[in-house]
Amino acid sequence: MPKIRIEFDKATCIGNKACLAMDFKRWKDVGDKVDLIGGKEVQKDIFILEGDYSEDEVETIVEGAKVCPVNAIGVRNLGTGGELFQRKITTENMKEVKAKYDDRKEFVLDPAGYFLIKTNPKSKEIEVAFCREPNIVSLKVTGETPIEIYQTIINKEKLKIRNDHYAYLGRELEKAYIALKKGVKYIQDDELEF
Ligand code: SF4
Repeated sequence: MPKIRIEFDKATCIGNKACLAMDFKRWKDVGDKVDLIGGKEVQKDIFILEGDYSEDEVETIVEGAKVCPVNAIGVRNLGTGGELFQRKITTENMKEVKAKYDDRKEFVLDPAGYFLIKTNPKSKEIEVAFCREPNIVSLKVTGETPIEIYQTIINKEKLKIRNDHYAYLGRELEKAYIALKKGVKYIQDDELEF
């Protein structure tokens, strides 16, 4: 059984409870944060828990750490000394690039089709149509949030489009969502005006 150390930085925790949903045996809901059950505070807001766990438990512990959006949880195998999930973000081997894009020169039309996106201020919904042929709608998806719409289009309807087209869809959905929330006009491909 591997001996594992779990390290938890409670100050960083934003309390979204994703770790708890993944691993309810290690985490306890304490309102706007979680507690590491059985964890010892070794310095202010840093809690450590060590123990021998089965391979399945270790997998669950690591999954619980991975879903934390703010890297508040680290997991180390004390037998090998190896990090199973590193809490600190390292940048030593990072390539850094300044983003550049010229839409007039670099835009590529997706042969799979195109999206028509609009908002419905009355129902507070976003409507997305996909055309495989000019002006012939083959799919229409309506929803309230970007995530439910793109998950439906990509993972449930399994629409196959270019990767940059997926990114475009996400950007337009977020704009449409903000437009509905702020009560401003949404026009596909135009910037929002506040
Ligand atoms: S997933 Fe991270 S931020 Fe969310 S409750 Fe757990 S430790 Fe806190």
